[in-house]
Amino acid sequence: MKKNDIFEIEITGMTDDGRGVGRINGMAVFVPYVIVGETARVVIIKALKSYAVGKLIEVVKPSPERRKAECPMFYKCGGCAMMHMSYERELEFKRGVVKDCVERIGGFSGLGIDEIVPSPETARYRNKSQFPVTPDGIGMFAPHSHRLIELDDCVIASGECKKIISAVKFWMKSEGIPAYDEAARSGLVRHLCVRTACGGTAVTIVTAKPELPRAEKLIDELKAACPNLTGVIQNVNPKNTNVILGKENRTIYGEPRLMDKIGSVCFMISPQSFYQVNPKQTERLYSIARDYADLKGGETLLDLYCGIGTIGQFMAERAGRIIGVEYVERAVSDARENAKLNGIKNTEYHAGKAEEVIETIVKRGCRPDVAVLDPPRKGCDPKLLKTLAEIPTLKKIVYISCKPSTLARDMKILNSLGFSPKRITPVDMFPRTPHVETVVLMSRVK
Ligand code: SAH
Repeated sequence: MKKNDIFEIEITGMTDDGRGVGRINGMAVFVPYVIVGETARVVIIKALKSYAVGKLIEVVKPSPERRKAECPMFYKCGGCAMMHMSYERELEFKRGVVKDCVERIGGFSGLGIDEIVPSPETARYRNKSQFPVTPDGIGMFAPHSHRLIELDDCVIASGECKKIISAVKFWMKSEGIPAYDEAARSGLVRHLCVRTACGGTAVTIVTAKPELPRAEKLIDELKAACPNLTGVIQNVNPKNTNVILGKENRTIYGEPRLMDKIGSVCFMISPQSFYQVNPKQTERLYSIARDYADLKGGETLLDLYCGIGTIGQFMAERAGRIIGVEYVERAVSDARENAKLNGIKNTEYHAGKAEEVIETIVKRGCRPDVAVLDPPRKGCDPKLLKTLAEIPTLKKIVYISCKPSTLARDMKILNSLGFSPKRITPVDMFPRTPHVETVVLMSRVK
């Protein structure tokens, strides 16, 4: 098999990132935008020793689950991967990914996986969107590249984004503000980030240098485009990096933080702090975690990787004491302030790495009953899992994960340390993308 060869191929499986898989002479070929059961004509764009990558030319035999994508840019933009299929098929795929990881990586067989919790909205559900800005315009990067696909809207982003993109484009063009050019390492504007919440909309404009010429004109344009604008932040990121935000934030208009509400609990969110992106599903996700924690009152709850303190404070009513750990300092100060805002007095927050802070507080005699873990995609440090398992009072672990493979790896470790899985519930936080969130309850084996 070589580059530019054309084949007709039957799709027999899917990868975790939503690409179809078929075989030609036993060799796996990965093809985006196809569905299991379809036959597709593909051209080979990459042929390696152990696998190949194909580009879809035509679907020869379409699946009954095939749909017209709701976004005109779907087949170019790298943001979504599932718009060519029905939402029901997408949900089935996601539950299948969780099941497969739990069985294959976790080594568990015969465990029941709950039905996936569908998102009430599959469009306009995101409260935060980040758009790269390059000399080619404002938009998204094509899959696995830094080639910019210009967009004037994003179907899964909030309605404000369209008007804000247009306002920033107009400002750059009319004021002669240059976009940052990654290759030449010159120019100014690198990213546009928009976050919306109950309290309004905050726009962060990421620049390569500290100066921001004609900022007052930008603010006027944004105010006109977005009546609920509450803040404009300039973030300075001079580094040659893929990380979007730099260290320095300057508020150039209004209030940098946004206020949001989950259930009856309020949260202030700083631009640097993590916050779940699908607000309706966040409430469901946290409610499931709260059910699994099943606090009776009086227990000590660990909220590890706590961000701005959301999960612990959502469960605070029934907890004796909440101990949160988070390594972004700004998020920790948000968490402390949010506890005050909500009149919750039984919280304490520590800034630092969960795996290090836990060791220290356990040595000092802290005896938690339940731990909630909500780590980033790479999962937990095994040291943390070991420390948790050694706490004699700890009976339950509620693990919330945005990556099934690392979740399954950590479940296997926890299982070897004396915890067994009781419930596994996938939640669709990210419709139309291949990502899936999962809540797992693990209890100590008596
Ligand atoms: N539970 C929160 C945040 C979850 S996202 C919520 O639902 O909103 C994961 C969080 O873990 C992020 O805030 C990130 O900054 C933090 N984090 C990443 N690695 C960490 C570590 N080793 N120790 C503590 N916090 C960490």
